[in-house]
Amino acid sequence: MEHTCSMCGTAYDFVWEVGTPLPKNFPFCSARCKAADLSKWINEEYAISTPLPDTILSETERELLAELAELGIRIDDERE
Ligand SMILES: [Zn+2]
Repeated sequence: MEHTCSMCGTAYDFVWEVGTPLPKNFPFCSARCKAADLSKWINEEYAISTPLPDTILSETERELLAELAELGIRIDDERE
């Protein structure tokens, strides 16, 4: 079936069978769009809150940040 990427708007072929894991980048067309979306909300989250100590980051957030770093996307934060 065809699915439209919610980040860049590209229509791409979305193949998924019931009972199997969703595509890695769903609902985005690529890892880059997925990362762009993640970095967007992470930046927004940081923008509306005071700097948080690392201990408050959840495991999921740590994994996301690591994934973004692998893609060469840096999250700006002012922490030393
Ligand atoms: Zn996309």
